[in-house]
Amino acid sequence: MYDKNNVFFKILQKEIPSEIVYEDEVCMAFRDINPAAKIHVLVITKGCYVNFADFVENESAENVQKFFKSVAHVAEKLGVRESGYRILSNTGRDAGQEVEHFHVHILGGERL
Ligand code: AMP
Repeated sequence: MYDKNNVFFKILQKEIPSEIVYEDEVCMAFRDINPAAKIHVLVITKGCYVNFADFVENESAENVQKFFKSVAHVAEKLGVRESGYRILSNTGRDAGQEVEHFHVHILGGERL
């Protein structure tokens, strides 16, 4: 069950500031506040989904495709398309998911 009382919903509403690097109709991308690599950006959905499974099961196929194309676009915009990068999405307790609003991490800018 999605709970709007989470930090990423507040970032989407611009109630909490963030360093936005890209935004379109399906996503917002901003720098992670506690970076685990030289480049560490989070891409979050504009729709309210708890995690990866919730997103792919309940969002339209068109918007799922748009979202992942946007993730690729953000990586290109960050300049890591050629050097390489890692994308990951923590889902649930065993993965240590901290924020229950679906998001993808983009990590790069150095050897991981
Ligand atoms: P996870 O849910 O495990 O994928 O991790 C959530 C990520 O969100 C962590 O890497 C945090 O550093 C990051 N984070 C938490 N609060 C903020 C914030 N206000 N602005 C940017 N990143 C954040």
